[in-house]
Amino acid sequence: MTLNGKFYDSYADEASCRPISKFKLEDEPNDPEVIKNLILDELLLDVNGKQNLATFCQTDLDKNIHELMDKCIDKNMIEKDEYPQTAEIENRCVNIIADLWNSPNPTDTIGCSTTGSSEAAMLGGLALKWRWREQRKKEGKPTDKPNLITGPVQICWHKFALYFDIELREIPMEQDRYLMTPEEVLKRVDENTIGVVPTLGVTFTLQYEDVKSISDALDQYQKETGINIPIHVDAASGGFVAPFIQPNIIWDFRLPRVKSINGSGHKYGLSPLGVGWVVWREKEDLHNDLVFEVDYLGGLMKNFTLNFSRSAGPIVSQYYNFIRHGRNGFAKIHNACVGHGVFIGEQVNKLGIFDIIYDGKTALPGVAWTLKKDANVNFNLYDLSERMKIRGWQVASYLLKIVEKNIVIQRVLVRHGFSRDMAQIFIDDLIRSIDHLQKHPLVSKTNHTDCQSSIKKSI
Ligand SMILES: *Cc1c(COP(=O)(O)O)cnc(C)c1O
Repeated sequence: MTLNGKFYDSYADEASCRPISKFKLEDEPNDPEVIKNLILDELLLDVNGKQNLATFCQTDLDKNIHELMDKCIDKNMIEKDEYPQTAEIENRCVNIIADLWNSPNPTDTIGCSTTGSSEAAMLGGLALKWRWREQRKKEGKPTDKPNLITGPVQICWHKFALYFDIELREIPMEQDRYLMTPEEVLKRVDENTIGVVPTLGVTFTLQYEDVKSISDALDQYQKETGINIPIHVDAASGGFVAPFIQPNIIWDFRLPRVKSINGSGHKYGLSPLGVGWVVWREKEDLHNDLVFEVDYLGGLMKNFTLNFSRSAGPIVSQYYNFIRHGRNGFAKIHNACVGHGVFIGEQVNKLGIFDIIYDGKTALPGVAWTLKKDANVNFNLYDLSERMKIRGWQVASYLLKIVEKNIVIQRVLVRHGFSRDMAQIFIDDLIRSIDHLQKHPLVSKTNHTDCQSSIKKSI
């Protein structure tokens, strides 16, 4: 609405006094300021990032990152010839990450940015498939039954197996064993195994799978059978945590059997949404047939992605984070998060009705717990998650599929942007929620299917 020819007020405008269109384009344009405000108002109903303890993704981004993202909004990272410095910065990130993951020759390896770990996992998986198939062809053996062995994996590996026609042999969880073990891997490997994928930071419990012991077991298997099975590590979260705060855990290219690793820059890499990484141990570990050559400063550059056009912003922000924080900065930030996670775990434990499944001390910053079997309470964990939403907290509750009997667990991730005071407020709210549910039992309990959408969101 205008007054004397000037814009007057968003909320007195015609567009805010009627429903805006939801199913088809309107014929006439609207005032952009008004529409922006209407959309921003609607988005207020989404949870605020800081209180979202269900996500692994970075939600605290400084003003410099906002500025870099803004300046890069029109740069297409795939156009290497037009944006050679973006390509250069992406390469520097690959070198830095290869070094961080102890590649034997970090300046001469191969790797690339992706939209996230899901795409990175597909690329890692495809390389495994190609390597296996070539080997099988050389031996004159059939190539129609590839399989992949994982522990309890993130959904991207289910997608990979489905889309690329691979049998997924996912090791199920058992009572008191939530991770893959060398014994369980050995039960499933055979000549058609394209690779084994341990996870560094399992989605469900935040723990690290023991890559070294799995690698050792596969060494032994090779000695006995001659079959050489490579490892790809899904280090979506742990890839940007372990190198800084758990440097003594041997999980990366220090193990010769680890041929490729993926990580999410937009999780503990502290970068904004839209960037993941995959790096191969050595150039030879990525089959040449998978690589396309693109023009780059008059020359040719290797390219291997599923996606094409994408903003340079998250890649440039990743480089900013690497240079701005350095190793010690990342360590300080992640150690602070570990401290808050451990604190929350201790406080939750004190309440006496929960069993701690992961105490936050040895893997990702965060905690996971379940209700004690004999906890004499009026509510389940889904009810508690629902109640915590009243104060804005998102706490993931979900079903762990365990061979003997499924259990429901609750999981909290601690990320950059959290503080001890926030942790205390969270605990106070948790106690208040429990008191409330005890005093006012629900007529009908929240169940797993009510919560499906929030679970999907959380992974
Ligand atoms: C988050 C996650 C993924 C998927 O990563 P995106 O970056 O969200 O695509 C894959 N694996 C694990 C273990 C994860 O935590």
